[in-house]
Amino acid sequence: MIPFNKPPYLGIEEPYVLEAMKQSKISGDGAFSQKCQKWFEQKTQSKIALLTTSCTHALEMSALLINLKAGDEVIMPSYTFVSTANAFALRGATIVFVDIRPDTMNIDERKIEEAITDKTRAIVPVHYAGVACEMDTIMDIANRYNLAVIEDAAQGMMSTYKGRALGNIGHIGTYSFHETKNYTSGGEGGVIFINDESYLEHAEIIREKGTNRNKFFRGEVDKYTWVELGSSYLPCELQAAYLYAQLLEADRINNNRMDSWDFYYQQLLPLAHKGFIELPTIPNECKHNAHMFYIKAKNLKERTKLLNFLKEHGILAVFHYVPLHSSEAGLKLGRFHGEDQFTTKESERLIRLPMYYNITREEQLKVIDYVTQFYQ
Ligand SMILES: *Cc1c(COP(=O)(O)O)cnc(C)c1O
Repeated sequence: MIPFNKPPYLGIEEPYVLEAMKQSKISGDGAFSQKCQKWFEQKTQSKIALLTTSCTHALEMSALLINLKAGDEVIMPSYTFVSTANAFALRGATIVFVDIRPDTMNIDERKIEEAITDKTRAIVPVHYAGVACEMDTIMDIANRYNLAVIEDAAQGMMSTYKGRALGNIGHIGTYSFHETKNYTSGGEGGVIFINDESYLEHAEIIREKGTNRNKFFRGEVDKYTWVELGSSYLPCELQAAYLYAQLLEADRINNNRMDSWDFYYQQLLPLAHKGFIELPTIPNECKHNAHMFYIKAKNLKERTKLLNFLKEHGILAVFHYVPLHSSEAGLKLGRFHGEDQFTTKESERLIRLPMYYNITREEQLKVIDYVTQFYQ
């Protein structure tokens, strides 16, 4: 059986985790956390990177950071993971879903402005498959309407838009280190980027249970206390150590995935040219990270047949998000602005092929072979 995903594992992680275990401080914000955060700040040019327990939690922190209130509105695509919406709905906001572009599956930047009301507070672009949203347009809209932009770059580590790292373009950005992502901190984890300095102090407090503990550690206050709403969003040092080992080999992982992605693309191109399937589109200004390799079948019926066919032959390919606006919670907590021209239709056609660090050519050829057989 060829699995859909294998958690990234290099075999170099153990000594780092062992070293963390032997330190006297193994709770959050120790030596390995600092090293990871420095790495991210250098790599992305973000003002500050703070490790979190997940991308979900980084998004929840974002909702607290922008001081979201009940009745506020947040604009995002419906084609995304539940955490994108949950984080803001938890604060009582109404989620306003906007249609996607069929080429990248990202929020259609041309449909955002008309969804803005006097209650809108933020736009949350999701960089699907590590391919950037049209950020210049989105930032321009946000600036004109004084809205916060929070990039859900869960899938976007190592990707860029016009040379800028994803997660570093909006006021706030987030990555995920869940085992299904390109890099992991041992199964669960994330990072939040604070790119707008006005959020810095606030971010430290929210992440430290709503206290000014960080100020206390720096000697800026003589006791620490509860200053505002917060929670516990710090991963432990074991997680940071696991992640740090993978950061040191970030390029190796990225090159390996890109190589596999390109191989799929080249090998499946003939099927696309014959009009059987569609392949992903990468806009010129975007450099992606091979987070995902997807193809599109003609429609839902054909997709179901193809998925079953692959499964019968030992290949685990999978579909992806069921649009949030049509989900049980989405119906209660949000609304779709405008017409659902592409979200449902395109999501029903999409199939993700097995893709992971060190997938072998043999495995890929088997996948390619069976996809090709299906269409013959
Ligand atoms: C994976 C993912 C998340 C959630 O990340 P966790 O670290 O598992 O909380 C959020 N948004 C998107 C788009 C994702 O792909």
